[in-house]
Amino acid sequence: MAAMPIQVLDEAVATRIAAGEVVERPASVVKELVENALDAGARTVSVETEGGGVNLIRVSDDGAGIPAAELETAFQRYATSKLSSVADLARVSTFGFRGEALPSIAAVAEVEVVTCTAGAPAGEVLRLHQGQPAGRGQRARARGTTVTVRGLFQTVPARLKFLKSNATENAHIARVVSGYALAFPGVRFSLRIDGRHVLATGGSGRLIDAAIEVYGVEVARGLMPIAAPAMPPGGITISGMISQPSLTRANRDSLSLFVNRRAISSRPLAYAVEEAYHGLLMPGRHPLAIINISLPPEEVDVNVHPTKAEVKFRDERAVFTAVQRAVRATLVAQAPVPRMEEPLATYRAVPPAARPLWGTGREQHPPPAGPPAGTPSPPLPALRVLGQVASTYIVAEGPDGLYLVDQHAAHERVLYEKYRRQLAAHRVEVQPLLKPTPFEVSPAGAELLRANLATLAEAGFSLEPFGEHSYLVRTIPALLSGGDWAAAVREVLDGGPAGTEDWTERMAVSLACHAAVRAGKTLNLAEMRHLLRELEQASLPRTCPHGRPTVLRIGNDHLEREFGRRG
Ligand code: ADP
Ligand code: MG
Repeated sequence: MAAMPIQVLDEAVATRIAAGEVVERPASVVKELVENALDAGARTVSVETEGGGVNLIRVSDDGAGIPAAELETAFQRYATSKLSSVADLARVSTFGFRGEALPSIAAVAEVEVVTCTAGAPAGEVLRLHQGQPAGRGQRARARGTTVTVRGLFQTVPARLKFLKSNATENAHIARVVSGYALAFPGVRFSLRIDGRHVLATGGSGRLIDAAIEVYGVEVARGLMPIAAPAMPPGGITISGMISQPSLTRANRDSLSLFVNRRAISSRPLAYAVEEAYHGLLMPGRHPLAIINISLPPEEVDVNVHPTKAEVKFRDERAVFTAVQRAVRATLVAQAPVPRMEEPLATYRAVPPAARPLWGTGREQHPPPAGPPAGTPSPPLPALRVLGQVASTYIVAEGPDGLYLVDQHAAHERVLYEKYRRQLAAHRVEVQPLLKPTPFEVSPAGAELLRANLATLAEAGFSLEPFGEHSYLVRTIPALLSGGDWAAAVREVLDGGPAGTEDWTERMAVSLACHAAVRAGKTLNLAEMRHLLRELEQASLPRTCPHGRPTVLRIGNDHLEREFGRRG
């Protein structure tokens, strides 16, 4: 791939390049080195890190190698083999082109490169100290390049201070490598963190195989290949995989967007994907998707962002439409699309009373996840159950009108508060599983799990490492028995790194959601009464832990007005 020799870009080209700090955190080093490997045509890329990437980052590839005579040049600023004129900038097809990464990395770490080109008798070694060549030698090596980076940011205390915990940095690293593994299913990736095998893809060339390694078999089963139209309009081809509507995530982290195999973030495109799911997902849920956008290089400007995390399309509208159409077409072809109904706008959620009817608003109830802080939640009046609508809403009569209770949301509220109480008292009731059950996680998830095993144990989950990225689950919180505990844990991991308190809160929200009675389940009178009694006793009975209403009231006055009994 490196067809041209490495040369220092002349001033005119160099200054046109949106220069920027490329090395923000260890994961940025991993990103740059992996991209160099891919630019060199590697079929195998191995990444190894220690100490959150600060102690060691090593990336080895079997790519073209760097010619011995060019090794020092590669570490000069604006030295690149991928671009030589301003015109080239308009059709960049490699990841690199600014010649910035290697010198930037060498400026903030100790670097050693071992590289061997095809036919060379031995590998060439170059060591750099504070950005300057500090040793040269030869070592046996097959074709390819190994870059070893040690002591990252040791000379830049400000950067070092900004780094998060090792677990967080590891999760970022795992996310970077997972992204490339998905974008390049034909390349064999491996990632080892502190000696643990975190990810290994086979390089089969099939996206589903890479997705299985990254997300686990269970999740991958819920993915559907994007149906590509035979004649892509405007030369824009969309491929990849998207989740069935039943497989969702609590955040947008599992939306991977690639433009000509470059991982990018783009709000409009993320929106295009979500739009295509309109009416298929619960509020607050997001699809999981791997979207590859291929288009002629001159249609996209990758030189607008220092780390190239964002790109500019010549015709953004066309790309947006292509993504939306492809996703929607896939969903329509492979999943039933339910009819959309008008939202019920007439009746609003029960408003909080003007004056708190109880307490001072400073009770020691658990922190509300939904309603604005400081809004005291008035208690519910005693409700008389009349029946159930659509196997989803409990219809009840109160002193001042008709009440509709969302059975799932109400149960969520009840379970959330119970669980928070158990957690606060360090007395979470646990339920041993009849058979210890394996639980698979993504590499990033595995890092988070490892770092939070103690918090999870407090929360009632006892997990022990079991194989590469799976865990054996022995107990779950008793409140979750009968619920989908695996989905609950997965959702908590989806939230990414966070402090212990946030984890506990997430645990509670997620457990409540997955243990609560589903919408669509027929309840008998006794069950409905029991649920309403429990809801009446909740501290914040009027919203579920996500902040959605549990109860709608249609006041007697409203009924009178609507029936024309009163003006
Ligand atoms: P850029 O990727 O923008 O060209 P870098 O600083 O990342 O700049 O790399 C400088 C040059 O070093 C590249 O243009 C390439 O020729 C060479 N190089 C870096 N890493 C590798 C690698 N793993 N294999 C082959 N060549 C490499
Ligand atoms: Mg590069």
